[in-house]
Amino acid sequence: MSLTRTTCPYCGVGCGVLTNADGTIKGDPDHPANFGRLCSKGAALGETIDLEGRLLHPTVNGARSDWDTALDLVAGTFSAAIAEHGPDSVAFYASGQLLTEDYYVANKLMKGFIGSANIDTNSRLCMASSVAGHKRAFGTDTVPGTYEDLEQADLVVLVGSNLAWCHPVLYQRIAAAKEARPGLRVVNIDPRRTATSDLADLHLSIAPDGDVALFNGLLAHLAQTGKIDATYTSAHVNGVAEAIASAQTSDLRDTGLTEQELATFFRLWGGTDKVVTVYSQGVNQSKVGTDKVNAILNCHLATGRIGKPGMGPFSATGQPNAMGGREVGGLANMLANHLEIADADHRVAVQNFWQSPTICSRPGLKAVDLFQACADGKIKALWVMSTNPAVSLPDADGVADAIKRVPFVVTSDIMARTDTCDLSQVLLPALGWGEKDGTVTNSERRISRQRAFLPAPGQARADWDIISDVARRMGHGQAFNYNSPRDIFAEYVALDAATSHFPRDLDLSIFADADYAALVPTQWPRNGHRFFADGQFYHADGKAQMVAVTAPKLSKPRFALNTGRNRDQWHTMTRTGKSPRLGAHLAEPYVAIHPDDATDLNVDPGAVIEVESIYGKALLRAMVTDRGAPGHLFAPMHWTRQRTKAGAINSLTAPVVDPVSGQPALKSGPVTARVY
Ligand code: SF4
Repeated sequence: MSLTRTTCPYCGVGCGVLTNADGTIKGDPDHPANFGRLCSKGAALGETIDLEGRLLHPTVNGARSDWDTALDLVAGTFSAAIAEHGPDSVAFYASGQLLTEDYYVANKLMKGFIGSANIDTNSRLCMASSVAGHKRAFGTDTVPGTYEDLEQADLVVLVGSNLAWCHPVLYQRIAAAKEARPGLRVVNIDPRRTATSDLADLHLSIAPDGDVALFNGLLAHLAQTGKIDATYTSAHVNGVAEAIASAQTSDLRDTGLTEQELATFFRLWGGTDKVVTVYSQGVNQSKVGTDKVNAILNCHLATGRIGKPGMGPFSATGQPNAMGGREVGGLANMLANHLEIADADHRVAVQNFWQSPTICSRPGLKAVDLFQACADGKIKALWVMSTNPAVSLPDADGVADAIKRVPFVVTSDIMARTDTCDLSQVLLPALGWGEKDGTVTNSERRISRQRAFLPAPGQARADWDIISDVARRMGHGQAFNYNSPRDIFAEYVALDAATSHFPRDLDLSIFADADYAALVPTQWPRNGHRFFADGQFYHADGKAQMVAVTAPKLSKPRFALNTGRNRDQWHTMTRTGKSPRLGAHLAEPYVAIHPDDATDLNVDPGAVIEVESIYGKALLRAMVTDRGAPGHLFAPMHWTRQRTKAGAINSLTAPVVDPVSGQPALKSGPVTARVY
């Protein structure tokens, strides 16, 4: 049987996969993200394609229905809510699991035809702080570099990133580069000593949220030791003096690191030209996430270490298509194609292109605010697409209660029973990985095809098709008459061409004549492109902006709860939970606790600990380990209420967000802990 060339549906590395219906899974040797490698999750994809638990037909109020009945109800109820309460009374909550074409259509319906920007996604939990930091520094949401830069660097600094578990193939690429060239140094900055730390020449066990102080300290050190590239900054960067002055006020004790550790790191970073600083959720998921991003970007801008081979900041996105989603405007504060809601010319251009009756004129509600609006009774109709906010958002029990307050909730999903499905009046069966067709963009701006190799099960349909059908039933037929994802991708590329006179980074011209069916993985604007090589940025004067950031005053609760991924699970385990092989790695919810704390609480390894915050509590098996500092607890995020009676971890996390990006802080909330 011939193999289909597609892309892994899990993390933002975006590995190419060769597969077919008999469950064969191989890494694609020709895909430039992975060159044939796969991690444990990708290699087990063949064990996750059965139909057990799948939603196979529409349901209305728990009873089997048909597409016409369900979609008429959805279109009619959304239209009625908009007519009675206005466009901002409805909302979509989407997912980084959606393909770019799905995202494009959902965004177009909400922003151009409903006239609200109330479409946000679980990507808000993933990389919104990176988006905001990029825009403040560069004038656009641009990931400057490529994966090759990580291999070409002489120093790779991994900040708030357990790359070995969360982006394993990228980790493998760095490990292989280091083995081939032992002079490549790796620094890992993480409160925990993780699997990633095993590769590091230096692990810095930073205090939670100590990153701004650390990179401010580095910037002050660079200034003090004459490492600021004055030629570069005077030509290409604004805000240098202000950023340095602010950096010099940081108290390095807030990093939690010793003077010797700080000196070693500063000397290494300052003394190495080819530095790539990779950052992920430990940076982004913070109440100061955007400032952390800008503190990192400041150091690269101040030294001109950006836009050149083996140099630059690099945001490793968590989800398979967080990048594609933000490219087509799938966040509440963005317009399509990296255009700006705040720019009237951009709005007019998009509206003209779409021939739409309206266009949103202000940002919509970001994820946490969106569900607060649900709790406040302001949202009358909500459509959740391919995600499970009732368990994955902070204060998950509060979010579940908020969803219950929405008069009409629709969920399109591949599974029949999720925590959010159980709160929905209408369920719409969506195609899953292997059944659907479209494109995704990985962390290095590479657009790859996901291709179907399985038949559509039951009555399931593609998300773009479901959304378009609802749009037509709402009276927007002409604009949503797509026959295939190819039509949508072509429109996305055409919108880029029609708005190419607006200076910005997104440039899809390479795809204008592309054969969609045979599309090979391709970076925009072209393969291997490094942004900012010419020192030109996207602020009005063509310069970058260093942002003066101030390290936050940190409180130190008795216990701070950090949450994150296990190596072999993905999100709420919808797919990975089907593989016994993956489940064998870490089979049940746990909390990692330092031996000193375990002694203090009289907790033996394997005993049950009750972890509690003001939002909720969970019972977790104690994993006693010195990989985290005393007072630092870590628990995985994967187990839903349906999978454990002991409480989902996000029942404990606080709906505290970064004020710039709206990204929730999921890494260091105060909790109490006691033996159960
Ligand atoms: Fe999939 Fe990410 Fe693993 Fe690659 S590294 S196989 S994209 S989960």
